[in-house]
This record gives sequence, C-alpha cells and structure tokens, in this order.
Amino acid sequence: MVDFTLSEEQQMLQELAHEFATENVRPMAEHWDENSEFPMEAIQVAHELGLMNLHIPEEYGGMGMGTMDEVVVQEEFAWGDPGFATAAYSNGLTAAPIITGGTEEQKAKYLGRLTEAPRIAAYAVTEPGAGSDVASIQTTAVKDGDDYSLNGSKMWITGAGKADWFFVLAYTDKSAGYKGMSSFIVEADWGGVTLGKKETNMGQRASDTRSINFEDVRVPAANLVGGVEGKGWFNAMAAFDLSRPNIAAHATGISRAAFEHALQYSDERETFGKKLHQHQAIQFMLADMKTKIEASRALTWKTAWESDNGIRNTESAAHAKRFAADTAMEVTTDAVQIFGGYGYSEEYPVARLMRAAKVMQIYEGSSQVQRMIIGREIVRNL
Ligand SMILES: Cc1cc2nc3c(=O)[nH]c(=O)nc-3n(C[C@H](O)[C@H](O)[C@H](O)COP(=O)(O)OP(=O)(O)OC[C@H]3O[C@@H](n4cnc5c(N)ncnc54)[C@H](O)[C@@H]3O)c2cc1C
Repeated sequence: MVDFTLSEEQQMLQELAHEFATENVRPMAEHWDENSEFPMEAIQVAHELGLMNLHIPEEYGGMGMGTMDEVVVQEEFAWGDPGFATAAYSNGLTAAPIITGGTEEQKAKYLGRLTEAPRIAAYAVTEPGAGSDVASIQTTAVKDGDDYSLNGSKMWITGAGKADWFFVLAYTDKSAGYKGMSSFIVEADWGGVTLGKKETNMGQRASDTRSINFEDVRVPAANLVGGVEGKGWFNAMAAFDLSRPNIAAHATGISRAAFEHALQYSDERETFGKKLHQHQAIQFMLADMKTKIEASRALTWKTAWESDNGIRNTESAAHAKRFAADTAMEVTTDAVQIFGGYGYSEEYPVARLMRAAKVMQIYEGSSQVQRMIIGREIVRNL
C-alpha cells in the first residue's frame, strides 16, 4: 500500500515541532548566526518537549521513534534555523552507531547520558587529511594493558566544543585496511583530549564546528564500540543509513523556508506595474522551486519508510540526501534572485539560508560521494 498520510501521532509531532521552531528557533536565528552562538537554551527546550533523541530506544530513556517520525521533526527544525538543526541533530548522528553496534553497557551508559539531561555528543570521523576518503584516516588506537592509547586529530566535528562524549573512528590494525578500523566512545574531559577554536564557517554559525586532538588518551577497553576490534568502519557507515534521511529532511526544511520567503516577497514587490509573481518568468521559477521541494520530501519520506520497514536504504538515502541538498542550494539561490538586491543583503533571511544550504552538499558525504554510493549500488548486482 502506498500512503503519504502521516498518522495522527505524527501529525501531532509535526505540529509540536513546528510550534517549537516558530517560537523558540526562528526568532533567534539571526542572532545565533551573527554572534556564532550555540543554541543551548533552545536545545534544552527541545529536550523538555521530547523533541531530542527521538531514535534512542525507550529502554535507554529515548523517545523510541522511527526514522519517519524523526524526518518530520527535522524538517521543522531546519525550517526554523538550519544551524540549530545541525547543532541539535549531532546527537542523532552520534547515537546511531551506538544504537546499531554498541554493547548493552555502552547503550545504557552513553545513550542514557544524552536522554537524562540536555547533553551533546559528537561524531568524530573526518580528519585534516581525510574526509570523503574515510579509509585514509591516520588516528590509531593501540592496545596497552586494559586500555587503548588513542592518538590523532579530527577536523570539522559538529558539536565538539559542547560535547559530553565523542564517537571516534581509529585504526587498530592498519595492515587490514578498512577492516582494521575500530570505533571508540571517548569522554570529552579525559586527559589528552584538546579542542581547536570554533571554526568561522560560511553559514549555520549556531552550530559549533572544531578540530579535536587526541594525544595518548587512555581509552578503557570497555569503550571499544561493540567490544570487538575491526567493526569501526561498519559502525561508522551504518550510522549514515539512519542519519542521511534526516540530513535530507534538513535540506528540505531549508528549501521550504526560502521558498516561503520568496513567495511572500513576490506578492509584496511590484515591478512594471505588477506583483512579481504576476510575471510568468517569476511564476515559473516559483513552480520549479516547489516541484523540487516536493520531490525532496518524497525521496526523504521514502528512504525513512524503508529504514522503518527493515529495507536496506543505502541507495535511497543517498538519492534523498543528494537531491535534497542540491535542491536546497538551487532553491535558496533562486530565492535570493527573487528578492533582487534585497536578497543580497543580510537584512533579509534568504542570504543566510543560501549560506546555510552550501554545507548540505558537503557534509555527511558530499553530493559527489552520494553519486559514488548510488553508482556502486546500481552496478552491485550486475
Ligand atoms: C560544517 C561542517 C560540519 C561537519 N561535521 C562533521 C562531523 O560532525 N563529523 C565528521 O566526522 N565530519 C564532519 N564534517 C566533515 C565533512 O563530512 C567533510 O568535510 C566531507 O566529508 C568532505 O570531506 P573533505 O572536506 O575532506 O573534502 P575532500 O574529501 O577533500 O573532497 C574535496 C572535494 O572533492 C570531492 N571529491 C572527493 N573525492 C572525490 C571523488 N572520488 N570523485 C569526485 N569528487 C570527489 C568532494 O565531493 C569535495 O567536493 C563537517 C564538515 C563541515 C564543513
């Protein structure tokens, strides 16, 4: 059966998230961006409303919801402010490999920390010399008695400056290639962990992005994710099937916000004796923007539905993430165009949205990487 109707519970969740975004996120978006301020107060409110940690099972204090529930909430978050959405979703991405690959003790302790109080966790995979090509990371974890000694540097880590703990990918056996990677839970206040300064990014400045340095950090063997060496690559990649639908939802929320601003402006601004949207060239732009937003959401909901129904969604998540991210860049650029000179000014929100959209094509696997995944999937069974 094909059914695009949200359940009654999902509609209520969507309304709650929209109300929250309208009251607690939108009014602060410009301030956070201008001051590079982390939106901790709004995250606290989201936590109290039950809008954080949606995917964490109830037994660890989470909301026990599915990916479809999550994407509905995440679209509203990004509609409110993309930087807020990225900052708040850091927990979703970081919890994912623990949910799918962690031991019972790790789940109870570290997922529990995120659900018992408004805390942040960060996913630390990228390094100064390795982004798309994850297998060329240099961080190592060497067994030393009951501990591992962790050494290396991570780069561009969302939420790093606010995190309580990190998910860290490292080599335990370099000679085994990607099968020699292992993942660890590292607490932020352990000796040998140092943070870089907050990066000054093009957009989404509410979110905190930093480098992390690990120097002889003693990591107990109990913090080896899943308790088995060699599973790091699989843990890190499995997270993306859960997270990319949400990143696609963020991109859809950005596009929708920009479209709404442009539509409103096209009804207020007159040129050559007509409202902007009465010019067919502008109406066609608005039509194309809307089509692409509808397609972004349809791809997002499809991959979320597959995720919830136990269907392997690696390819559909890549379609959704790639298309929705590229759409966000196109739609926000068109929104700036519809605003004309005013669109180029920070006085209006569309410039901020256009800056925010760019990273959607870069992080969580760039648009090129999504095409590589799709390409690999479509030739897999030839
Ligand atoms: C704001 C922000 C937040 C981030 N948050 C996190 C986080 O929380 N955790 C984390 O681990 N990482 C995070 N990242 C890192 C992000 O995932 C990487 O930046 C991304 O994977 C790209 O890696 P790179 O920057 O090293 O670019 P590179 O891998 O060097 O790629 C450079 C360019 O070349 C393209 N390219 C690379 N290889 C190929 C190829 N084979 N074919 C075609 N094109 C190719 C890429 O698409 C890109 O356009 C974040 C990045 C940013 C900017």
